[in-house]
Amino acid sequence: MIFDNVTAITMNARRQILTQGAVVVKANRIAAVGKSGEILSRFPDQAVIPCNGNVLMPGLIDTHVHTAQAMIRGCADDLGLIDWLGKRVWVLQGNYSEEDGRASAALCALEMIQSGTTAFLECMLAERYGFDGVAEVVLQSGMRAAIAKIVMDLPSYAKIEGFMHSGMVEDGRTSVDNTLAAHKKWNGAGEGRIQVWFGPRTPGGATLELYDEIGALAEERGMGITIHLSEVREDLEYARSQGFRSPAELALAHHLLGPRTVLAHCVWTDEADWKIFAQTGTTVAHNPASNSKCASGIAPVHRMLQAGVNVALGCDGGPSNNTYDLIRDLRLASYLANLRENDPTVVPAEAVLEMATLNGAKALGLDREIGSIEPGKRADFILIDMDKPHLTPCWDPVSTVAYCAHGSDVDTVVIDGRIVMQGRKVLTLDEEVVVEEARRRAPEVARRAGLDIGPRWPVV
Ligand SMILES: [Zn+2]
Repeated sequence: MIFDNVTAITMNARRQILTQGAVVVKANRIAAVGKSGEILSRFPDQAVIPCNGNVLMPGLIDTHVHTAQAMIRGCADDLGLIDWLGKRVWVLQGNYSEEDGRASAALCALEMIQSGTTAFLECMLAERYGFDGVAEVVLQSGMRAAIAKIVMDLPSYAKIEGFMHSGMVEDGRTSVDNTLAAHKKWNGAGEGRIQVWFGPRTPGGATLELYDEIGALAEERGMGITIHLSEVREDLEYARSQGFRSPAELALAHHLLGPRTVLAHCVWTDEADWKIFAQTGTTVAHNPASNSKCASGIAPVHRMLQAGVNVALGCDGGPSNNTYDLIRDLRLASYLANLRENDPTVVPAEAVLEMATLNGAKALGLDREIGSIEPGKRADFILIDMDKPHLTPCWDPVSTVAYCAHGSDVDTVVIDGRIVMQGRKVLTLDEEVVVEEARRRAPEVARRAGLDIGPRWPVV
């Protein structure tokens, strides 16, 4: 297939923007990238897909996703963290069945594909959501994913009355064993599209011994680890109560850091922490919308990038964002960093696009495979329909995509050489069925949880 007449934001080493370009896909890889005329004469027998001058760029990589939370989108708006988690999110999730977990993952995948995300890191898959069902959804959707199974052995949050719902508690042995079983069964499935990782609970939700064990197992098997770290100020107090200067130092001492680790949030971190992240090659998943909505704080993204940390982007979840449209968060990531540093030059459009592509690829250990439009890489890319008033005029496709586009401007999605969406129609999942099922299941979960969720204004 030749995707012809594109404006390609290649993200190659020279960061070239190719106009009147063409991209050739053979099987699951990019075979050639070049000027349209040259490509068409070099590959005369290939099927040509005309692209109307639209932007072609690497698929976005979301490095912090809770798939189970898609179906409880908007269930806990405008609440403080304790009530947000303890009275809504955990209560609802603690009442999920495996069918609910699967339905929510399908809803989430559908939304991600429709907004140009081609690969993601599911950060906390609980036992009760059903690992197999979620992995099957990923396979069917055509997406690329690292799925991290929850590991925990300290039900400390459950001991605070009314905080962690009993349905969310797992025991240490089972949670580790089941992660290893899922790894054995699913890692590498879908021609390598699926990876299985460890998703330990944030410090306070697991013992330090469990972290040591996970660190050793991950090292031995080449598995990734993802964990929420320094999201809120209270995380610092917990680390200090355990005798550490910061959560980053706790994570370092207990073998959680390294090039296969993704730390979510890292809002409450300092220079010494950034040095640790950079030296160990650890990735930080920045979640600008979630941090803003939950008032967790503004992460020091500019400082981390300057310190050499690999910073990628994440949407987080349905109750904290409230969408899985990573394009919307490109703009927020830049604007928030400007606000924090009181300087509009610190995290420009180019930097946020790197975070959502190249840095995300590195986070998943796939920097040699995805993240840019270059011959030899896997064909994971998207086309953005630029024929829109809010994308006009377009002086610079990079800042237009980063600051003006919406997820709904994505027209075509290709993952691993397969067209997954074309003309905004998703070809791998049945949109009507997926949406209808989520719409039916969500109120049933709320009913089982004993929650009455609705408008705060009178309904007449
Ligand atoms: Zn999260």
